[in-house]
Amino acid sequence: MIFDIVLKIYNRYYLCVHCLGRMFSLLGSYTTNQERGNSLLLSLTMENHKKFLSNNTEQQNIALSNLKILAEKANYVPAQEVLKNEGIEFSLLKSNQLCYLCQNIFSKINEYGEKAIQILDGIEFKNFLVGSSPDSQIINREDDLKAQLEILEAESFKSHFNREVGKFLSIKLNKPPEFSTPDVSLIYFFNYDSSDIKLKLKSLFVQGRYNKFIRGIPQTHWLCKNCMGKGCTLCDFSGKQYLTSVEELISPEFVAESKATDSKFHGAGREDIDVKMLGEGRPFVLELRNPKVRTLDLIKLESNVNKITKKKVKIRDLRFSNKREVIYMKSEASKTKKVYRALVVPEIRITKKIFEEKIKKLKLTFENKKINQRTPIRVSHRRADLVRKKIIHNIGGKYVNSNLFEFIIETQGGTYIKELINGDSGRTSPSFSEVFEVPLVCRELDVIEIIY
Ligand SMILES: [Zn+2]
Ligand SMILES: [Zn+2]
Repeated sequence: MIFDIVLKIYNRYYLCVHCLGRMFSLLGSYTTNQERGNSLLLSLTMENHKKFLSNNTEQQNIALSNLKILAEKANYVPAQEVLKNEGIEFSLLKSNQLCYLCQNIFSKINEYGEKAIQILDGIEFKNFLVGSSPDSQIINREDDLKAQLEILEAESFKSHFNREVGKFLSIKLNKPPEFSTPDVSLIYFFNYDSSDIKLKLKSLFVQGRYNKFIRGIPQTHWLCKNCMGKGCTLCDFSGKQYLTSVEELISPEFVAESKATDSKFHGAGREDIDVKMLGEGRPFVLELRNPKVRTLDLIKLESNVNKITKKKVKIRDLRFSNKREVIYMKSEASKTKKVYRALVVPEIRITKKIFEEKIKKLKLTFENKKINQRTPIRVSHRRADLVRKKIIHNIGGKYVNSNLFEFIIETQGGTYIKELINGDSGRTSPSFSEVFEVPLVCRELDVIEIIY
């Protein structure tokens, strides 16, 4: 049965041994397609050679015609030698005959591999993965041939190519393939005439905590609202809404050291531009994209960054991280507890006695209770208009003078503190203003602790 298919194939097309074996790849394990192809041709030759030597003329004729197919159309040397020894003439294929399916790409696996080795020069990686995207002509030829001859046990062009190039590279580079999260992915795009390799380098993730000691800088880089980054007179052609950000203060050193193309800053929640981030700092993960260097001296980087950003931003507790931790950190941000210090100004002066009464009422109203907080007007352009329930854990108050109070507020992550204090025209309820029966305004706000 298999032999019939092989003879039918060669009656119509010339295939290389790799592609011949590939058509039967699901049959027989722990071998290669090349070996499958060679052993099919050899067994077929031996079978027909035996028939040819028999005394049955009919059998001899069939054998002779099969041997000719093998010698002429499969260009198979052992069959050619049998015919030569028997003194039977046959014609030869032109010497540079190309495989109908792969156009001899599979005889040039080394060349494809060498090309990758050149591209990988100067890139640090522990493991890799080969992928490929052959063009539609390659795929269609293959599908047609399999359909015509009802071949069901073939391996695809792609998977043969990926594995064979992978084997070559693994030996040459002395590095293992990695199928789920490779440091390097090599994707070959090719047709019969040309090929191109696209390189994808796995992002490198560094986790740490940051403090922000000054007001007026956002966590991440903001595009100029007027030109959306193109550069205009309003932004002095910087393309930015703010001159700098926590992200821009921290990331350049990392990008330079890792030779990454760029980076993305992931914070565990964010503080407003005018809010300091004090205490132990806020967790963040810096994602370095397409890094050519993966082993970074984090201690040195930390001290370099802190030297440069002195008094504005400070980083600490650096360690390598991964994408999973970024997702976890984002999803857990609203479950963390945050402690804030707020300096608050009342619209009407209040005596210390009244203040002490109001603090008692404040504790009764808020502590370990939920508030309803509708998306504040000031952020409604970028966040969905929803009512969120947030827990307020603890409140402490200090009377500075009749016109200034300090509150220490421990809440669930994601609570809008300024609105908790001023009430946001009733969008946050209850609010400190409601309890005080006097409009209160938060003049200064700092995050002093984030508790995980
Ligand atoms: Zn081939
Ligand atoms: Zn602009």
